[in-house]
Amino acid sequence: MSRSKGRAGRPWRRVRAAVLAASTTCWLCGRPIDLDLPVTHRMSATVDHVDPISLGGDPLNPALLRPAHRSCNSSRGNRPPKPRRRQSRDW
Ligand SMILES: [Zn+2]
Repeated sequence: MSRSKGRAGRPWRRVRAAVLAASTTCWLCGRPIDLDLPVTHRMSATVDHVDPISLGGDPLNPALLRPAHRSCNSSRGNRPPKPRRRQSRDW
């Protein structure tokens, strides 16, 4: 039997549940989140970090966590691709 320090498995789940129990309003778009949606749904509930962990924020501190839709959360993290400007060469 190997002792492995699990990463934020259970604690994270607990904190996440606490955040969603306190509020189910998406902090990114301000709309309510339906907790009954399957986790794969784009409008399902996720918990977003307000402060980046790199800045020293405790990832399990509920004060730094906000509920967010999955789509809102992911769209915030991924920058939309810049439209490519094609330079026309008119010689
Ligand atoms: Zn949202």
